[in-house]
Amino acid sequence: MEQPKIVQNFGRNLRFKPSHTYSPINKDELIDILEKHKSGKIRVVASKHSWSGLIETEDVLINMSHFDYVKIQENNHETSVTVGAGCKVKKLLADLNRKGLTIPSVGLIDQQTIAGATATGTHGSGKHSLSHYIESLQLACFDENGKSAQIVDINEGVALQAARCSLGCLGVVVEMTLSCIPQYFVQEKATFCDTIEEVLILEKKAPLQQFFLMPHSWKFFAQERLVSLELRRRGFAAIYRIYWFLIIDLGMHLMMKLIVSILRSRRLVHTFFRFIVPSLVFHNWLVTDRSDRALVMKHELFRHLELEAFVVRSQVVEAASFVKDILQYADDGNHQLSDSTIELIQKVQLFDSLSSIKGCFTHHYPICFRRIMPDDTLISMASGVSEDWYAISFITYVEPRDEFYALATFLANSMFELFQARIHWGKWFPQTSDHVNQLYPKIDTFRDVCYRYDPNGVFRNSFVEDKLGF
Ligand SMILES: Cc1cc2nc3c(=O)[nH]c(=O)nc-3n(C[C@H](O)[C@H](O)[C@H](O)COP(=O)(O)OP(=O)(O)OC[C@H]3O[C@@H](n4cnc5c(N)ncnc54)[C@H](O)[C@@H]3O)c2cc1C
Repeated sequence: MEQPKIVQNFGRNLRFKPSHTYSPINKDELIDILEKHKSGKIRVVASKHSWSGLIETEDVLINMSHFDYVKIQENNHETSVTVGAGCKVKKLLADLNRKGLTIPSVGLIDQQTIAGATATGTHGSGKHSLSHYIESLQLACFDENGKSAQIVDINEGVALQAARCSLGCLGVVVEMTLSCIPQYFVQEKATFCDTIEEVLILEKKAPLQQFFLMPHSWKFFAQERLVSLELRRRGFAAIYRIYWFLIIDLGMHLMMKLIVSILRSRRLVHTFFRFIVPSLVFHNWLVTDRSDRALVMKHELFRHLELEAFVVRSQVVEAASFVKDILQYADDGNHQLSDSTIELIQKVQLFDSLSSIKGCFTHHYPICFRRIMPDDTLISMASGVSEDWYAISFITYVEPRDEFYALATFLANSMFELFQARIHWGKWFPQTSDHVNQLYPKIDTFRDVCYRYDPNGVFRNSFVEDKLGF
């Protein structure tokens, strides 16, 4: 056992001190820990990048960082990789790349562990979420009476669907096997559009694209992305990476931090997004780079907090127009809402809570839209329907965060009522168990699988008890 310390997450919105902290070095040690604490409460922590209350515990906290191996195998001409739960995505990508391989999906950063990323349905590159690609998984959990700890292999049926995105509720993931694919290169080009309809048309030729609604200019900026037929860097890719790191990852974020945290000027935020940010982007720079370089950025450099709402494709145009109107209203209490937004708010009777966000918060970060294909899981955000999803992200760099929380709560509630929006499990999570019960048709099955591997609820903290309605 290690000396328990105060734990803080990346966003510093969570702070707690567990009574016991462990970093087991092998499976025997892990089983001993589970046996010792079988009448207590256990949670697993990984890179602490989640903003929701998933990792919190006052009792036992386990860190699986010693389980960071990567084993590549071939079976019937299919290549897969078995990876220790505590392995960071960055290491997994590097090890696979040495063999000319990669995984089919990554998030915007590569600092998460593979178990942490999949436990919350992390997504990011225009494909399914990472969870979808888990072929099998090894879990440390309890037997059907909850009396003894055991290690089980899960490789089919609803148990696998539940374990792919489990929020840590089934037990401690020891390792998982994921499908992998040959390394590929991504061609990218930056394009500005006036409407979301124009951006969505681009998606036909750039299926991996992500796009941003730029606050205060309210134009769209698309990163048109497609799989390149060539397996080499082109378009001065190395210089592009340096430009992106210095100008966007560092420069743009530093300027924004200065404006929103130190100068605290609403007018400068407007000027920044209307005139400065568009001038930082090189239009039409056609660049081709390896997937693990092209699809990630250094978004972890500056502390922030995020809410991300998932809507199905058929709702994304209406949702984007609603979001734009609401953010304008939050920025300027005199903003005249459009007739369609007024009609929507009337329909769901949210006029009272709308008044609480009037002029309360100036949004200061591009609103990112990313496509996710439907997942074969029980409760990842992109599960349960055959349509593609779009994740719409709202990020703040301002602290204290009370005004953002008010706006984010309004967005989560109104978008639930209007578009059946699901909130990312790993991000700031204001939805209630009532919402969750309505949004996830397979939530009952998920709870049943949890009872099977953890009959006494040892692996549940108050966040999952509350949100999943155990
Ligand atoms: C800068 C930044 C960028 C991000 N970008 C994206 C993005 O592009 N796309 C996206 O979808 N999300 C993104 N996220 C969210 C992030 O991917 C998720 O919150 C992810 O869960 C974090 O992984 P982690 O390793 O930090 O896990 P933690 O936050 O430490 O834990 C997350 C969950 O995993 C569980 N867990 C971890 N290990 C195990 C294990 N071995 N067994 C059982 N349960 C386990 C924990 O109990 C917890 O429930 C981002 C977050 C940050 C801070």
